[in-house]
Amino acid sequence: MSIAENLTNLEKKIQAVCDRTGRSRSAITLISVSKVFPASCLIEAYQAGAREFGENYVQEFEGKWPEVNELPGSTFHLIGHLQSNKAKKAADLFHCIQTVDSVKLAQRLNEGPHPLDIFLEVKLSEEGSKFGAAPEELAQLIDGVRKCGNLRLRGLMTMPPWSEDPEVARPYFRRLRELADQHGLKELSMGMSHDFEVAIEEGSTMIRVGTAIFGKRVKRTAL
Ligand SMILES: *Cc1c(COP(=O)(O)O)cnc(C)c1O
Repeated sequence: MSIAENLTNLEKKIQAVCDRTGRSRSAITLISVSKVFPASCLIEAYQAGAREFGENYVQEFEGKWPEVNELPGSTFHLIGHLQSNKAKKAADLFHCIQTVDSVKLAQRLNEGPHPLDIFLEVKLSEEGSKFGAAPEELAQLIDGVRKCGNLRLRGLMTMPPWSEDPEVARPYFRRLRELADQHGLKELSMGMSHDFEVAIEEGSTMIRVGTAIFGKRVKRTAL
């Protein structure tokens, strides 16, 4: 199936969960996760209506950037782990960094050339993402980020342990929502190809979908 057909099918599923849960479709942003796929695939998705893209690796996206950065109205999110030494480059290339997990990293991003949207990545389990701040560290992290005038804190992001059964992710999504409520944050970046429906049920405002749009990824060769 083509990228356009995949997007149409996905859109139907998103709409169906919205109908079922009484949520507004406009309250959920779809991020098309294009890691490993070439710029031509992003352009194909763009032509089919996609506007927000997620990439995992700064260097990989730097290679695609000349071909995609001028697509009108497009927004690029870094959703992979960011090392401090690549923060300057990332702040240059992306509009939104979803994996901020330390004040030090926030301060580096704050020195970038333009204002940045950010999410704080939260680690909710040992088996999920290796990265992210612990829930107990959030208050301090939020304080630090709020002192960075170039950064706009939008919400929290998480990556639950992988399981074929999307229900396994539900308690993690619920926990992220509780943490966001506790800290007065509005947005929740959670849900991927296999569990976005559960994530929307649990209040996700931003789903990050790769495989269901671009197809299966073959293992990436080292950069
Ligand atoms: C790759 C990736 C996704 C998309 O995963 P799919 O299962 O292909 O939809 C979402 N979020 C993060 C952080 C990723 O690395």
